[in-house]
Amino acid sequence: MHCPFCGNRATRVIDSRFASDGDQVRRRRECQGKNCKERFTTYETANFNMPTVLKSNDVRQSFSEHKLRDGMLRALKKRPVSAEQMESAIIRIKKSILSTGENEVPSVQIGEHVMQELRSLDDVAYVRFASVYNSFNTIAEFKHIIEQMENSKH
Ligand SMILES: [Zn+2]
Repeated sequence: MHCPFCGNRATRVIDSRFASDGDQVRRRRECQGKNCKERFTTYETANFNMPTVLKSNDVRQSFSEHKLRDGMLRALKKRPVSAEQMESAIIRIKKSILSTGENEVPSVQIGEHVMQELRSLDDVAYVRFASVYNSFNTIAEFKHIIEQMENSKH
């Protein structure tokens, strides 16, 4: 942390406390520069910003957990999967998106994560989602994905 007054790199933390309900740490620092010794405050917050979603038509959208949940709910409708199972799947998806550390994530990549999760939760939900996601138009496409699924199980 550079001193904002003289640019010195050496600063000493003289006080540290939680601010805004523990989401933030407020630190009082003192510059160790010989002729400076100025004091200033820094605030540290964990960065949980989701990357921007880059759609296939090059349009950028902010990440929407609501949309993600919506898509999964639709696929899981009336399937024997609990809300807890779905929520932990959503958390895993968000974590893997965050762990890329990128500012942008292709929507295709999010779709792949969703399909992976649905596949381990429920076959029918997986086929439903995949059919919408890949906009299947023919029975042959359904047959293909179901065959793929069955082959990978044996
Ligand atoms: Zn200084």
